[in-house]
Amino acid sequence: MASLALVAGDRVFLVDATPDIRRQLDRLRDLKPGEGRVDRSPLDGVFLTHAHLGHYTGLGFLGFEAVHANETPLYATARMVDYLATNGPWSQLVDLRNVVPEKLTPGEPLAIDERVRVTAHLVPHRDEFADTVGFLFAGPDRRVFYVPDTDGWQHWDAPFEAWLDEQRVDVAIVDGSFYSMDELPGRDVAAIGHPLIIDTVERLKERVGSGGLQVFFTHFNHSNPVLDADGTLRAELESAGFRVLDDGMEIGL
Ligand SMILES: [Zn+2]
Ligand SMILES: [Zn+2]
Repeated sequence: MASLALVAGDRVFLVDATPDIRRQLDRLRDLKPGEGRVDRSPLDGVFLTHAHLGHYTGLGFLGFEAVHANETPLYATARMVDYLATNGPWSQLVDLRNVVPEKLTPGEPLAIDERVRVTAHLVPHRDEFADTVGFLFAGPDRRVFYVPDTDGWQHWDAPFEAWLDEQRVDVAIVDGSFYSMDELPGRDVAAIGHPLIIDTVERLKERVGSGGLQVFFTHFNHSNPVLDADGTLRAELESAGFRVLDDGMEIGL
């Protein structure tokens, strides 16, 4: 699982609602002082990438049995919204207006304020219940693309590096689930459903090396050797200019 907070002035949005949402809300409280323990609007909105366990099930804590949120905007694709609105327990959040779904059209920017725009982009992934998007956050200074889950780059219509160029992305925060096939003995690379870090590095190393692109990896499987902060693979990755996203890191827009 993985998530981000999007902070725009005094407004705070959560990007994906993980099962750890309580800890995230605690950490965000400093940024958005609310009404203490009875605050029913701890967030100005939630963006969801897709309907996999680590990305949306934390929504439950916004419901009647916990925060009982008061009309928190919920931004997701039509398919994701329809899934939530028609399946319990999520439908209860919609019925009680704990969340108010706002459907995003992939490729169409949504202005959060006069400086920050968010655009959902469909990405290939296991879409059992809904579809999957990455988010492009465009601020006055930088464009950041967040894609915590995607199939390998060979499944994209355009090469990922060309897509990043076309979208003028300055910072990419990318699915780093697995480092290489060494973590997955006996498995077929085509069946992994994620890009391998070594493949992502191969595609993006020139852009990263020249300083034209910053890349952070996130969404690690427990088997991933780059989680060892003192390991040689982590050191190699960082010496090539790539970074591992840590809890609490801030990236300016
Ligand atoms: Zn995931
Ligand atoms: Zn997923």
